[in-house]
Amino acid sequence: MTVAEPYRLLREEMVEFQLAARGIRDERVLKAMREVPRERFVDLLYLSRAYDDSALPIGWGQTISQPYMVAVMTEALELKGDETVLEIGTGSGYQAAVLARLARRVFTIERIEPLAARARGLFEETGIRNVMVRSSDGTQGWPEEAPFDGIIVTAAAPAVPLPLVQQLAEGGRIVVPVGDLAFQELVIGRMEGGRLATRVSTGCVFVPLIGRFGWKEE
Ligand code: SAM
Repeated sequence: MTVAEPYRLLREEMVEFQLAARGIRDERVLKAMREVPRERFVDLLYLSRAYDDSALPIGWGQTISQPYMVAVMTEALELKGDETVLEIGTGSGYQAAVLARLARRVFTIERIEPLAARARGLFEETGIRNVMVRSSDGTQGWPEEAPFDGIIVTAAAPAVPLPLVQQLAEGGRIVVPVGDLAFQELVIGRMEGGRLATRVSTGCVFVPLIGRFGWKEE
């Protein structure tokens, strides 16, 4: 048995019991999450809990999201493989690593520079070459690379940030946790004829999206 083997088994179990059993149907999403080594993206202190059914601390008061929430948000983007995707809130880099297997290019923004640097290093180490990382206020998007076919915000916003709507391509999808600081609901939007059609999905709890079009820093 190789060192990676126990993690492969934990990943299989995660996909079966935490994702498929709870209604994640997109085979490409399930396959990607069966392949991305989540243990590489968690803090070493939490290595033994890498495949727990929960979010985990990654330092700087931030978290790597629960696998199920990663799957729900990824599935909502309905990626086919040729898209350009923007993620706001790189955090550990795990969500971006999943997206990297499902889209052509991923742009990800993290406001905390050391987290952005760590994620950049992990993408290099794990051979992920189609993810571009930058450290800035993601609520303003990445206008130079717009429009995006998919936009995913992995932090809690008071409302869908307007610059992100403006950077969404026609037919593109956006997913954002929207609510107050204690509780949010996933808002899933699709750009149709220049207007954003939205629906509300599951409840969730994320760390705050802090920036010009998010919550103000205290
Ligand atoms: N997607 C991450 C992962 O796979 O580990 C989890 C993200 S964590 C729940 C939310 C992240 O959003 C934090 O790392 C936080 O620093 C970042 N964040 C908050 N406001 C931001 C902003 N305006 N721009 C970019 N990143 C932001």
